[in-house]
Amino acid sequence: MPTKYIFVTGGVVSSIGKGICVASIGRILKSQGLSVTVIKLDPYLNVDPGTMSPYQHGEVFVTKDGGETDLDLGHYERFIDVELTRDSNVTAGQAYLELITRERRGDFLGGTIQTVPHLTNEIKDRLISLAAKSNADVVVVEVGGTVGDIEGLPFLEAIRQMRNTVGRNNVFYMHLTLLPYISASEELKTKPTQHSVKELRSIGIQPDALICRSDTEITGGIQEKLSLFCDVETEAVFPMPTVGNVYEVPLIMEHFGVGRCLSQALALDGQGQLDEWSSLVDRMNAAEGIVPIAVVGKYVEYPDSYMSVREALRHAAASCGLRAEVRWVHSEAVERDGPDAYLKDVSGIVVPGGFGSRGVEGMVDTSRYARDKGVPYLGLCLGMQVMVIDWARAVTGLKRANSSELDPGCEHPVIDIMHGQKGITDLGGTMRLGQYPCRTQSNTRTAQAYAVPEVMERHRHRYEVNNKYRESLEASGMVMSGLSPDGELVEAAEVPDHPFMVGVQFHPEFQSRPNRPHPLFCALIGEAQHTVREGKQLPFHRAGGWSFSAQ
Ligand code: GLN
Repeated sequence: MPTKYIFVTGGVVSSIGKGICVASIGRILKSQGLSVTVIKLDPYLNVDPGTMSPYQHGEVFVTKDGGETDLDLGHYERFIDVELTRDSNVTAGQAYLELITRERRGDFLGGTIQTVPHLTNEIKDRLISLAAKSNADVVVVEVGGTVGDIEGLPFLEAIRQMRNTVGRNNVFYMHLTLLPYISASEELKTKPTQHSVKELRSIGIQPDALICRSDTEITGGIQEKLSLFCDVETEAVFPMPTVGNVYEVPLIMEHFGVGRCLSQALALDGQGQLDEWSSLVDRMNAAEGIVPIAVVGKYVEYPDSYMSVREALRHAAASCGLRAEVRWVHSEAVERDGPDAYLKDVSGIVVPGGFGSRGVEGMVDTSRYARDKGVPYLGLCLGMQVMVIDWARAVTGLKRANSSELDPGCEHPVIDIMHGQKGITDLGGTMRLGQYPCRTQSNTRTAQAYAVPEVMERHRHRYEVNNKYRESLEASGMVMSGLSPDGELVEAAEVPDHPFMVGVQFHPEFQSRPNRPHPLFCALIGEAQHTVREGKQLPFHRAGGWSFSAQ
């Protein structure tokens, strides 16, 4: 079977769940026994989102090969249970950089470089080469942004050309739109979708199917109307109502016949059903006990910054028959009002990753609070570093301990820049990135959680535990529970005589799946559940007076 391509574009407005829909299509096809890979095309000019503020872009999802990518890749990995690489995120910045580098080298001597065909070829080459490399039966391609955006045009032109490049029978165009609800007339409106499809057709793409997002049920001949005006078969106009649990989306799509439609149109020979997925969702939805977990970070006004952390907590809680209630607590608020104000009724605490000094003292306070009060704690990257700083200050007696990232001239840089990173001035793609091995040390909570001696985990940081202080930290009781195989780098640390206080230099959240929750998150929830409140929904917690600086 030749590789099949499913292109998913978005219309009307952004943020209506295109990434989840693409991930769900992938899940449906994978459940049919097909091999699937996914690409996100991002029309912005940054080479990757690594240098963008979380406020602009949300989480930077790190692939195993160290790609700093769009957070939608996280949805793809979680839903399809695949491991993607940096090749699955193509930005306009990458395509232009490649072309301009080649131009400067002289590869085009005498020629004029143009959007069509040079840029569009560059985009198509990347799609085709990923298809070849991955050997996938189906490549699902998400085009970022909304049809009508100026910067998206070369990408739409490239996917239009793909129909001729790889053959008409091997491509399928899906358009995701929003049907707004007008409360005065109590109806869903199709006009914005009609306009968006018109726009798409004006660039030569006739959608084969529409996915219509709406907050209410689609009734009263709406599908027929859209079919008529958009020239799409009625059976290929799929409703996609808003759901409480995103993991239900593949089931809903399957219910409305998305799988069948794709199989027929692309002559896919897969077979199989979503039974396993369906029991997984049932398990999640059946969970009644609430386990409140505080995520104490500096970007919490925009929880998309911690997408994978939130999902990892949900997966782990579901595996214990519980529902994680994530409370977003701003570290600057903790700094200002003290930890008690925000943390006294949570069952567990996560301090996630972050960069720069703003709000970090609030994280150190949080770590001290968790240590003093015996609240289960999981520190992720920066969350581990603050745990070490707190320990060094309070237990080792190094009152002025800090990280040299946060206080470059500090007296005791217990967290410092690591080998090979000194002298690097470029900020893009120069961190310790991607998957590295970690050896767990026996008789530790970390080893107990993993139950295997060596694991691979994904990194994204510049700083590490400073080896100069390792001895004194250990002498004062801190346990270095995970090390790089050569013993040179501290990968995990923990606080002894505590229910669960583990910090890791990496980001375990990227590897959590609904069907395979991450062992460290399971260990956290396992400990936290001792203080679960049965069925009691606690109020969503938000702190006032946040500052919005973009670092
Ligand atoms: N800013 C810290 C470092 O670079 C932590 C990074 C992170 O949390 N991802 O080491």
